[in-house]
Amino acid sequence: MNMTIDLTRFVSDAIENKKDRYTSASDQIWSFAETRFDEVRSAGLLIKVLEDEGFTVSRGVAGLETGFIASYRSAAAPGSPVLAFLGEYDALADLSQEAGLSEYLPVHPRGNGHGCGHNLLGVGALAAAVAVKDYLTEHPETAGEVRFYGCPAEESGYGKAYLAREGYFKDVDAAFSWHPYTMNAVMHGSSNAVIHATFTFKGRSAHAAAAPHLGRSALDAVELMNIGSNYMREHMIDQARIHYAITNTGGIAPNVVQADAEVTYLVRAPKSAQVRELFERLVKVAEGAALMTGTQMNYRYEGACANLIPNSTLERVLHKHLTALGAPAYDAAEYAFAKDIYETLPQQNKQEAAALVGPQLAPLLAERPLPDFVAPYSDEKEMFMGGSTDVADVSWNVPTAQCVTTTMAFGTPLHAWQTVAQGKSSYAHKGMLLAAKAMAAAAIETLLQPNLVEKAQSELKKRLDGEAYECLVPADVHPPKQGADTLAL
Ligand SMILES: [Zn+2]
Repeated sequence: MNMTIDLTRFVSDAIENKKDRYTSASDQIWSFAETRFDEVRSAGLLIKVLEDEGFTVSRGVAGLETGFIASYRSAAAPGSPVLAFLGEYDALADLSQEAGLSEYLPVHPRGNGHGCGHNLLGVGALAAAVAVKDYLTEHPETAGEVRFYGCPAEESGYGKAYLAREGYFKDVDAAFSWHPYTMNAVMHGSSNAVIHATFTFKGRSAHAAAAPHLGRSALDAVELMNIGSNYMREHMIDQARIHYAITNTGGIAPNVVQADAEVTYLVRAPKSAQVRELFERLVKVAEGAALMTGTQMNYRYEGACANLIPNSTLERVLHKHLTALGAPAYDAAEYAFAKDIYETLPQQNKQEAAALVGPQLAPLLAERPLPDFVAPYSDEKEMFMGGSTDVADVSWNVPTAQCVTTTMAFGTPLHAWQTVAQGKSSYAHKGMLLAAKAMAAAAIETLLQPNLVEKAQSELKKRLDGEAYECLVPADVHPPKQGADTLAL
């Protein structure tokens, strides 16, 4: 029989059988809403499900207290291939929102919320890993190992970069992940590499009117650094991005010279090497600001990640299975809630979403805003994402493919209260299960056809063109500990 049909059937049964466990885990993680490096209960819940399923779990990997790797190896001869699923489970600060509501209403004022749908992301990847494990137990003649990588702090913490830097992907043959989104697709593209660092300036306090000559203003240094970086913009490549936030102004009293001030920067560009070069220039700007103001400057890395390397070989397999599985059907209540959410979106979000799907589909989706089709795949043109993802660091080491599925109304932006509001909806659950099935089927096919791994790996080699992976986070920078997060991002 046709392998695709067989696998569609297998993964559908395997995942539907355990569906309630998965949706409940995702809803619980939604409620925990733990931010980067503090995902203790979320990681604990995922570990519990994986251990119950017979996985062996290593905790605290790469110095990440909430990072872990769960693995299951088939009874057949040990060895290749090793397949990895990447799971995330961190929430965002200041995005608390009631579920199932189409108006803004925080559960806790200034609380956290799953504004990027990582409650679904982590559990969807876990469900895929468990389905592959189920396949290996049912087919003991198939050799292979399946791993779930518990990757904390995707949001501005870049947990996967530490895992990659410490070599945890060295023996992996292929990796799969997904992201909650507003449509079903396998996108072929890259993303910006980024370095995130915080600059602190130390000056000397003084009475700003009575003894200004005794003061050395750290706030002046921050302002001059920002002016310097804004002048840098004229002399950098178009695609690079530099953005900053002043995280400590040194106080609210204008009549006290500010002795301490702090500014946090994100430097992005399409290639890791370009980011590294821009960052070195930015450090010089900071040094210059310190010299001009007679203050002292220090900086610390908040994290960093590379640019994403796509892999057409694996993407095609993933897209084939996503298409074979097909989009879920929705009922009237689901369309109605999605429509209510859609109506709350700013006009610009609606226009951008419409531009993405074109003039034929846009009016239909505006009426029934749950895309219930799988978009065609093309690798002719690389899509470029201005943002960054730490999946990139995996993709330099291992052929990696990702899909997106419909978990939110058409046009819903990430990192918005509307994303949180839809995070426990029945259509979000359906999208999560679809992604899990597609990834599991693609992974099983990769296990059964070793030539796929070879092809995917030679594609990666070709794309890297001799460049070796070098993590943008220096070796002596370690991930923050729980509760030590210095920035509420
Ligand atoms: Zn995300």
